Amino acid sequence: MHVSVAGVGAASALSAAVGPAAAETVSGVSSPVGSTASQQPSEHTASIDLATAASMSRSNSTPSSSSGCRGGACPARSAADAGVAQAVALEYVHALQAQQWPAMWELSDALARRRWTDEGAFAAFLAAKFAPNGKSTVVAVSLSAPVLVPDWNDVRFTTQPVDAVRLDAQVTLDRTAAYAMPPGSLVLRGAVVLVRDGTAWKVADDGPAGPLGPVLVPARPPTRRLRVPIMMYHHVAPAPQRTPRMSDYDYRLAVDLTVTPEHFTEQLDWLVTHDFHTISVAQLMAALYDGVRLPRRPIVLTFDDGYLDNAQYAAPALMQRHLTATFNIITGYVGATHGPLQYMSWDQIAGLAAAGMEIGSHTVDHRDLGILSEQDARGELDGSRDAITQHLGVAPQVICYPSGEPFRSRTPAAQQRLLRLAPQSGYVAGLLDPKVAGAEETSEAPYQMPRIRVPGEAPLSQVVASIQNLAGS
Ligand SMILES: [Zn+2]
Repeated sequence: MHVSVAGVGAASALSAAVGPAAAETVSGVSSPVGSTASQQPSEHTASIDLATAASMSRSNSTPSSSSGCRGGACPARSAADAGVAQAVALEYVHALQAQQWPAMWELSDALARRRWTDEGAFAAFLAAKFAPNGKSTVVAVSLSAPVLVPDWNDVRFTTQPVDAVRLDAQVTLDRTAAYAMPPGSLVLRGAVVLVRDGTAWKVADDGPAGPLGPVLVPARPPTRRLRVPIMMYHHVAPAPQRTPRMSDYDYRLAVDLTVTPEHFTEQLDWLVTHDFHTISVAQLMAALYDGVRLPRRPIVLTFDDGYLDNAQYAAPALMQRHLTATFNIITGYVGATHGPLQYMSWDQIAGLAAAGMEIGSHTVDHRDLGILSEQDARGELDGSRDAITQHLGVAPQVICYPSGEPFRSRTPAAQQRLLRLAPQSGYVAGLLDPKVAGAEETSEAPYQMPRIRVPGEAPLSQVVASIQNLAGS
């Protein structure tokens, strides 16, 4: 079903959900509160009376023909239906602004609620993030016009594709001393997605308001430590073939960086059967900063460099199992072919993001951040951030250092410089190379997250041992 609502095209689920235009459509409905918002879109243009539409969504709904629309494909039947969903979204963001956490819980769908141990944990997170000093820091919220998204399939929120309504949301926060963030990072952007839950529209993805939304670094971070395994992959592809022109070194490197699809699915199946749950780096940070309780046996899977095989082999295997991962993109290489190495296109990367994968920066040109001039290092951090923001509509918050530098072998001064530059460029977390020793993630060293390498030809037992050593399970 392809329907367009209020002038926002929904040519396909993908372009509607993640196309570059999406970031520029924050114009349909806005509800500024306070007077400090600087980039607010136009005034209230909602064509629906909020209270009326919201009550319609609860009482005047069409009975479902199947048991529970979540898995039974209850489509958004019309633009009017999308309008009802829009009213629920408005009610949700207004509740955020007013610190009405119970109202937000009431508007959340069943799967969204299941992400929390209970309503108290949900409320505690929202209070820690959006009212760190007891007073709401939200000064304005705005929503775009609703877009129908047929067959929405974000593996974080859906158990199978469902029709959904998506609105691009913008939450503007007060520039008080509550956060240690550059001012530009205090305008949170993301998509609020609603699905039918029973007979009502409910919020499935809370976008900028949720634990997967942009991370906010508190001005006074609590001291917390975690031991979550962060695995590092490169290629998932059939074993590389040796060509006559390939040196011994290049061949061995290719083998070492390539996990075969068979080994990869074996590893994923082991994680699933042993009750591991994949989380994003953003979720890890929400746990460190806002006390979000992570699922049992959390693990982060990361993929460096953005190779084409990630979209061909890794992503489908992850999605089939409802697992997520973090893909660290070298923005200057997107869509390129360098010798035998092929890189994903922006469309493919956008497809990963639409499916619930986290997209991180791996710089523009994969240069050593420890030996560049300050200006060039800043260019690598800002340039990759801007490219990802332009193509996906959401700024990356994770920086993955090429070859782990400057933290692997460069000077303490170079390391100190990067620890100053990374937050200035809006990053909230940094991923190290596994050659740098470490096991814990801490709120005191968020730019030095240790990782575990998954060697190309490692048998399952070796990978399992490296996870168990760290996770203690
Ligand atoms: Zn790399």
